[in-house]
Amino acid sequence: MNHDSKHASSPAAWAAARRSACPGLVRVVAARDGGLCRVRLPGGLLLATQAHAIAAAALDHASGTLELTNRANLQVRGIRAGSEAALTAALVEAGLGPSISANASADLCAADELRNLMLSPLAGHDGAALVDTTALAAPIVAMLQDEPRFAALSPKFALLIDGGERLAALDHPHDIWLAAASSDSGECFMFGLAGCPADGAIGSIAATDALTLIQALLHAFLDLAQPGQTRMRDVVATHGAQAVLEKAQEHALPPIARTHDWHRPHVDLALRLGVHALNSNTSYIGCQPPLARLDAATLHALATLAQTHGDGTLRITPWQGAILPNIDNGVAQDVLESLQTLGLIADAAHPLARTIACTGSAGCAKSRADTKADALRLAANLPPHVHVHLSGCERSCAAAHRAPFTLLAVAPGAYDLYGHGTENNLVRDADTAPFGHCVARHLTIEAAAQLLKQLPAQRPRSTSDV
Ligand code: SF4
Repeated sequence: MNHDSKHASSPAAWAAARRSACPGLVRVVAARDGGLCRVRLPGGLLLATQAHAIAAAALDHASGTLELTNRANLQVRGIRAGSEAALTAALVEAGLGPSISANASADLCAADELRNLMLSPLAGHDGAALVDTTALAAPIVAMLQDEPRFAALSPKFALLIDGGERLAALDHPHDIWLAAASSDSGECFMFGLAGCPADGAIGSIAATDALTLIQALLHAFLDLAQPGQTRMRDVVATHGAQAVLEKAQEHALPPIARTHDWHRPHVDLALRLGVHALNSNTSYIGCQPPLARLDAATLHALATLAQTHGDGTLRITPWQGAILPNIDNGVAQDVLESLQTLGLIADAAHPLARTIACTGSAGCAKSRADTKADALRLAANLPPHVHVHLSGCERSCAAAHRAPFTLLAVAPGAYDLYGHGTENNLVRDADTAPFGHCVARHLTIEAAAQLLKQLPAQRPRSTSDV
């Protein structure tokens, strides 16, 4: 990338040089259940009007099945063959595409794929935050799209800006992350490469230098990346983080203070669900569809609730759910009941709030089991406080974070159980290392439920109480 991409002649050439099977707004990829389109939502922000448009397009051009992702995006599944362009056009018409003037589909595709920016779902709403990061989102996305060289970035290259809100995903790895903190001279951003705030920072900058820092680090990444190195972790593994910072000096890196002993305060992930006060007048309400799937009618209803009782916006969360902000306190309980009537989960203790599963064999040819159906069966017998992840293969699409327990499919209805912090150490190889240690092999769902009852529950890393 440091040679070929750097000297490619146009953004379209760079985009063409990137090999990706990632779905996007333009790049509708084939799946077992039809075409798959990913609607990127920078910062997770979704207007209710846009949610209605997605629901309508999903019915007009696809099966009507929608899913929320662990990067706070939304996907349309089951797109009918021949309807791909019409779906994309409907979504762009709703303002869900990148803000570019170019009409060429290659440019639209590349610009769309650069918008992997995660904020707290409470960004701009949480009085406890140190920095309102919503003000940074648009300039960052514009910078990514305006610099032709950045079209060489992988569609998976992702940024996190944490404003210090009381609710944030702190254990999802990002190529570059910034986290607000207080210093003697005012607010600053801690930052790190190829990791997450839970890992600790490599430096800090003034809060006003966030955009300049990201720009310099992206140039440094592209300078140092060898062919085939698409993520910051590849470059850090080869050169080290210090080399990235030194290279960034050639690209107007702002002054950096080295940091020691900074730890981002933990968050309570139970705050992602239910009613929670924003101020004396309004609350936000968090909910999630079972196993991240909802139909078009439910999305329409969710959007209508946001328009009727909230501020007409939704925030998609990295826990595959949604938040309705600015709900009047006088109607918050009624709205909560409406969400539950729709089949949405709003209680962190609910078994399906502690169970995640990838698409599984119903929609993914790589899957060795029907993980969604098996997850529903497991949830019916899931012990209290246990969090579990079912994965159809080693790619772990459903979990960006380190799940306490993972059931990895080995055959239809059969799983190996992995855990972090468990005592048995039967297997630990490169493919399964992110899942922890192998606890038991070839379990049925019923046997897995029994075994999970006997093991000590492990908590997700960024939570203090779920
Ligand atoms: S984890 Fe594997 S089986 Fe599951 S959706 Fe991803 S690629 Fe398919």
